[in-house]
Amino acid sequence: MTRINSPMEIFKLLNGSNCRACNEKTCMAFAVAVFKERRSLDECPYIDEETLAEYGGKTEKPNTIDEYMAEAVENLKLRIPGIDLSEAAGRTGADFDGRKLTVRVMGKAFCIDAEGNLSADIHINAWVAVPVLNYVLYSSGAPASGNWITFRELKGGPERLNHFQQNCEKPFKRIADSYPGLFRDMLEVFSGRHADTHINSDISIILYPLPLLPVLFCYWEPEEGMGSSLHIFFDKSADKNLDSESIYIMLEGMAKMFDKIAERNRSKQS
Ligand code: SF4
Repeated sequence: MTRINSPMEIFKLLNGSNCRACNEKTCMAFAVAVFKERRSLDECPYIDEETLAEYGGKTEKPNTIDEYMAEAVENLKLRIPGIDLSEAAGRTGADFDGRKLTVRVMGKAFCIDAEGNLSADIHINAWVAVPVLNYVLYSSGAPASGNWITFRELKGGPERLNHFQQNCEKPFKRIADSYPGLFRDMLEVFSGRHADTHINSDISIILYPLPLLPVLFCYWEPEEGMGSSLHIFFDKSADKNLDSESIYIMLEGMAKMFDKIAERNRSKQS
């Protein structure tokens, strides 16, 4: 069996047609899923017997998650020269000044030029860059419907639900419980707004991680005999504008960022 070190090596074994017969959006998405051992190589119907025998559908993973994410960013940047940035800006609610596309990430400018170079008002890490690049490359431009659904209801949501609850909802709840300034900061620093919805929570705030990706945070304060709870909802159009893995990555990155803000606040106060 031949050792495989990265999703790119798996990608090179595929025919690159993005035909979706494997139920992934692209051959690259399938390659990443095989690398993460969520899928096996023989689920692509175009892999020949010889390749399967050589690679056996198994991979080894010497890369750290950071290296893997950095590689994902580089692979996505390579696809930017193949798209029309002006069209992409119109489709995604971004701006185009003839040279670069500027998309608002929680209200902050994030720029992509025609060569795929990135610059931003915020710190660029892979947890932001991967979702933003996928959004610009693949968003359908579907407008918000005004109907809120859970992560489980997104396409591909059930498979990632446990990770989403553990690494997104739980950390946000923990921060909200111990850092009362969280929601004020969401409103002020990241251009959030109070939401008026049928969801009967004590606090409801909408953030826009991306222009066509409103996210609703609902928090229920503790009451007699009952603990607090926090749930995150998405517009029904969310998975038409960003795949659920990228949505998960972005929310996980946001939870880490708010954790750092809360930590800084705690140390200032102590
Ligand atoms: S079935 Fe194979 S060729 Fe088609 S998208 Fe999936 S990986 Fe690519």
